[in-house]
Amino acid sequence: MTQRVVLAGGAGFLGSHLADFLLARGDEVIAVDNLCTGREQNVAHLVDHPRFQLVRHDVTQPLTVDGHVDAVLNLASPASPTDFATMPLAILQVGSVGTRNLLDLAVAKQARFFLASTSEVYGDPLVTPQPESYLGNVSSIGPRSCYDEAKRFSEATTMSYHRVHGLEVRIVRIFNTYGTRMRPDDGRVVTNFVWQAIRGEPVTLYGTGEQTRSFCYVSDEVRGLAAVLDGPLTGPVNVGNPDEFTMRELAELVVELLGSGSPIVLAPMPPEREGDPLQRRPDITLIRSQLGWEPSVSLRSGLQLMIDEATRQG
Ligand code: NAD
Ligand code: UDP
Repeated sequence: MTQRVVLAGGAGFLGSHLADFLLARGDEVIAVDNLCTGREQNVAHLVDHPRFQLVRHDVTQPLTVDGHVDAVLNLASPASPTDFATMPLAILQVGSVGTRNLLDLAVAKQARFFLASTSEVYGDPLVTPQPESYLGNVSSIGPRSCYDEAKRFSEATTMSYHRVHGLEVRIVRIFNTYGTRMRPDDGRVVTNFVWQAIRGEPVTLYGTGEQTRSFCYVSDEVRGLAAVLDGPLTGPVNVGNPDEFTMRELAELVVELLGSGSPIVLAPMPPEREGDPLQRRPDITLIRSQLGWEPSVSLRSGLQLMIDEATRQG
């Protein structure tokens, strides 16, 4: 059954790919975005689509939408650690007030509410891989706390609306996702390494370079998000790729794929990254067993897709 969907953060990296996915299966998408970290060019190919519209709006301001709505999806939030230093208060505001405005819209429309939460709710995890039941090891005062606590607050608010209003909700915890349409300057590791290697600049390993992440290609991630949106699980549900790599392994792979002469160098951990998690890997038993989802794109193939786009852009 096709749905009418409000997609907050729809001009962002993940939001624009999710818009493509929903439109391709026949849904109508009303993307709501203030473009603080998103880009109109991410949805430029959709502007003439009859079932797509982009509404420029800050979701920390109340929001009304005409007509019926089947689902309200909240992907609105800056997400790169470099944003934690430049816009911490905006991140706290969108996670709290923004989430609440979108929950109120869902209540008013009797729509399903979907929250894009994050593996950052596990903080610097002491358990690996991280199952949904792990309560986390999170600083409430460090430079990452604006994001981590905003997301924890948004999960708590979502579950409170579920309990108080009987609202149908879905919560996903997204693990590091990469792919086409990431901003070259967004500061996240995959974009940094790809663009440094393309430009022949040193590839910067922060700290020891031995910390790990598990990278999910965006097409896999979007399929996982849709599976949770459509499925019966309230969540939270981890959505990510459990293949784990050190940052040094990632740097070596990027340099190899690009045939780049860039040296791989150690650089000090930037202050906004204090508390940088040493390891991160999703336990995806829940989504795999209950919804039959698992990722299929290897890091090598996903990086190649991203490199192809980046080299076309020059
Ligand atoms: P992104 O920055 O590309 O997308 C976020 C979008 O939200 C942007 O288009 C931005 O302009 C918009 N936005 C921010 N504040 C807003 C506001 N107040 N009003 C309206 N729009 C606003 O980042 P992304 O990587 O696509 O992340 C999308 C969502 O997924 C975020 O909620 C993020 O926390 C979550 N997430 C992403 C990852 C990842 O690896 N990409 C990992 C975990 C969680
Ligand atoms: N990182 C790095 N060099 C960079 C950017 C990031 O070594 O130029 C490291 C960072 O310290 C972290 C990992 O890469 O350990 C992932 O960083 P990213 O910003 O992509 O996401 P995070 O998982 O930290 O939110």
